[in-house]
Amino acid sequence: MSTATAQRPEVRKDDSMLKQKVMMAAHYDRLTSAKETGRKVASTFVPGNLNELVMCFDLLNNLPEVNAIQSGLRKQSGGYVMEAEKLGHSEDVCTYVKSDIGMMAKGNVGPNGKSLPAPDVLLLSYTGCFTFMKWFELLREQYQCETIMLHTPYEGDGKITANMRDYMVKQLKEEVIPTLERVSGVKFDIDRLREYLRESVKAEEDLVWVLQSAKNRPSPIDAYFGGIYYIGPIFGAFRGTPEATDYYRALRTEVDARVAAGKGPVTPEGDMGEEKYRLVVEGPPNYTSFREFWKMFYDEGAVVVASSYTKVGGVYDFGFRHDPDHPLESLADYCLGVYTNRNLPQRVDMLATYVDEYDADGLLINSIKSCNSFSAGQLLIMREVERRTGKPGAFIETDLVDPRYFSPANVKNRLESYFQMIEQKRSGRRAPAAPVAAADTGGVGGAA
Ligand code: SF4
Repeated sequence: MSTATAQRPEVRKDDSMLKQKVMMAAHYDRLTSAKETGRKVASTFVPGNLNELVMCFDLLNNLPEVNAIQSGLRKQSGGYVMEAEKLGHSEDVCTYVKSDIGMMAKGNVGPNGKSLPAPDVLLLSYTGCFTFMKWFELLREQYQCETIMLHTPYEGDGKITANMRDYMVKQLKEEVIPTLERVSGVKFDIDRLREYLRESVKAEEDLVWVLQSAKNRPSPIDAYFGGIYYIGPIFGAFRGTPEATDYYRALRTEVDARVAAGKGPVTPEGDMGEEKYRLVVEGPPNYTSFREFWKMFYDEGAVVVASSYTKVGGVYDFGFRHDPDHPLESLADYCLGVYTNRNLPQRVDMLATYVDEYDADGLLINSIKSCNSFSAGQLLIMREVERRTGKPGAFIETDLVDPRYFSPANVKNRLESYFQMIEQKRSGRRAPAAPVAAADTGGVGGAA
């Protein structure tokens, strides 16, 4: 591992990436100096995060999943996961949770090397994944702080009804806002919320433009590996800020220039070569071997043109935008519409639409061992998308931040078989009976 790290070429970074790095570093510095500066902290999750509302109370937003991702990228999560297992958390538990618990047990040191503060309030916008609730129960035990649960009704019938919206607005008015006022000592000002939402809309417009630029040939972006960088500010602590607006404007300008120049995505090793395969990907990525994983794609000329994971903190590409004229209603709609709160037929529709609209060669599923929220029904999703689009699907398995479940040889082998299958399909030869998927079905715990 260390030899491979030493031989890595220098990572190429665009201006937008550098900008984002500065934003993230400043955010972690704000968090780790909260005690000295007297700032209060709200811990909350990415899907359904109410950053604009949190900012109305001068609270800093701390996102445990983002901390786990940072630990994964820094190759620290493996130790944290094992620490949590020593404390009694089962092997099946979401590894974001175990990374967070292990990190707390080891001093809660953030990516800037300083200790993250204890939260003053836990704000759970519960959006579909049961783990969120269990995770915050553990944090509540640890920190003994105020906890707010904003319950988002599941989109079981595939639509948002007026009742669902009203129920959420009622909770915002009667539970969430009064508690945030009490914890922060700041009075709620709806005009301040409207201002932040106005900024959110600008960033959302530019993000959607960037994601949809992948409809070009070649695609100027990788909408999964690159997309993960693009969603960072808007899914995290920056939605609603002028910094996020500036970031997305700069990103759009950069991507626009790539489209004009007929260029493909930027990878960590520079411009990608010829675009050979266009994929839609379902499921979160692996973070402990993120670059190695991405390289398996760009080395083969495979670009991801759309992904569901980049919708986990908000689905904007089918038209939703925050609405400053209906601030609380639009916060409700935002939570109701995130990917983790959508039912199986909606997920199938979305992925089949992506395969068609982005002219992809097929759907690849990265099934995450410890993420039940994404993994449930994935095999069924794959078969249904294959049936509707006539394009082949494939299935690989990794994990979020547990390095024990990333097997490079296995993943590479399966990807190569998939690309071969796509070639055969293109040349009209009969493809072997779905070797990738068939080989996988036996090994997928709880995927169907
Ligand atoms: S959606 Fe998956 S990764 Fe996220 S908290 Fe739930 S189980 Fe963990």
